[in-house]
Parts: sequence; structure tokens; C-alpha cells
Amino acid sequence: MKVTLLGTGDAIGTPKIGCSCPVCTEARRSGRQRLRSTVLVEIGDRTILVDTGPDLRAQLLAAGSPHIDAVIWTHGHYDHFMGFGEFYRVQRIPPVYAAAETLASTTRIFSFLSFTVEEAEPYVSFDLFGAEVTLFPVHHPPMPTFGVRVEHEGAVFATTSDSSARIPARSLDLLAGADLLLLDAIAPQGYTISKHMSYGEALELAGSLTPRTFRCTHASHLIPWDTPHLAADMESFDL
Ligand SMILES: [Zn+2]
Ligand SMILES: [Zn+2]
Ligand SMILES: [Zn+2]
Repeated sequence: MKVTLLGTGDAIGTPKIGCSCPVCTEARRSGRQRLRSTVLVEIGDRTILVDTGPDLRAQLLAAGSPHIDAVIWTHGHYDHFMGFGEFYRVQRIPPVYAAAETLASTTRIFSFLSFTVEEAEPYVSFDLFGAEVTLFPVHHPPMPTFGVRVEHEGAVFATTSDSSARIPARSLDLLAGADLLLLDAIAPQGYTISKHMSYGEALELAGSLTPRTFRCTHASHLIPWDTPHLAADMESFDL
């Protein structure tokens, strides 16, 4: 399994439009960006996207224009699904797997596309191209939101998606021991945000979940570029 992070920014991305903070200024100087949340998962010759953020067109071009065989949505926030329209007239629209609550708030926007939806029951694994995929509830109030675990040939990729640290114990079990763990870390250490983790909270959770490798993602423009364990756009992992 190969995992490529196509977007590691929060809902507004970095640089933030109109912002002249040090992180955004450095982004403009160097050309570095954090696009919105999308993860490319390759399983053999099949490809899955976990979320389809609004930067999807640029992300697929940057990734070498892979054909996408399936999409998993974690929740119905704009920054996690609105890029789905970018498949229009580009390729066969991929099937979408998501929890019922997510499908209820997303699919009608794409009524101009013809595609299938598969309702994923939380905590019930399903097969996707030979991988075992499980969605599980996290804590991102008031939006019902689901983390994702993908296991293939003994390798595990897991993501919290958008979540505070108040993740149900049963879901923490599915995040534990992953070969690659992604954690929401929207703000620097010391910030308290009710629906996301701060960098400090993400580090603490990584410490208890003992992944082989982890990255802090969904980072806002407040997070400095040289932060340890910070995810970077286009970073790849062979698991
Ligand atoms: Zn988000
Ligand atoms: Zn800024
Ligand atoms: Zn969200």
C-alpha cells in the first residue's frame, strides 16, 4: 500500500488569502502550500481517495493524473468533499463510500454527476480492492465525522480526519498501532478548539496510539513550516 498526502491544510489552506503572517509570507516566497484535505491510497493497481477537497484538480495533476477507482468521504464539510465535481468529463465518476450521515449532506450537490454511493456502517469493515476498510466515529461537533482505517497485506493506514481529542475508546482501538497515522492538528500547542486537536493534543494522542509513523495534518496557517512531524503536501509513504 502506498499513501500520498495530496493536501495537508485546513479548510482555508496555506497561504491564507490576504494574510501576511510569517507562515503565509514564507509560503508565497517559497511557493510552498498546504492544499485542502485529500489522501491518495494505492492498493496494487487500484487507487482510492480519502476525501476530495476543493483543490482536487491541482492535486490530481500534481500526482501525475491517476485514475481514481473509489472515493471515501469522512464528513460533509466543504474542505473534504467539494472537489468531487472535478471528475466531470475527466473520468468515469468513482463510487463513493461514506456513512449515511455524510451521504445525506453531500450527494445532492453533485446531482449533475452519475455515480453510485455505498453506505458504510460505522465499525463494520468492508472490502475495497482487497483492502479491509473501516469507518469509525470521531468527535468533530456538530458534524458527524468518521475516521478511516485501511488494512492491506498486514499494513495499516489510519486517519482521525477532523476530530477533537475526545475520540470514543472503540475508535481509538482502530487508530492504534498503525504503520501510518494522520492526526488533525489545526493549531499550535496551547490552543483549545472544541472540534479539532491542537498540535500538542495530537502529539499526546500519537504517544498513546504508538504508530510506526505519524504526521500532524489539517494544519492552519498558524503552524510554522518547520514543525516536527508536520505533514507536507505530496509526501508519500510505502507501507
Ligand atoms: Zn476540515
Ligand atoms: Zn497567515
Ligand atoms: Zn470538518
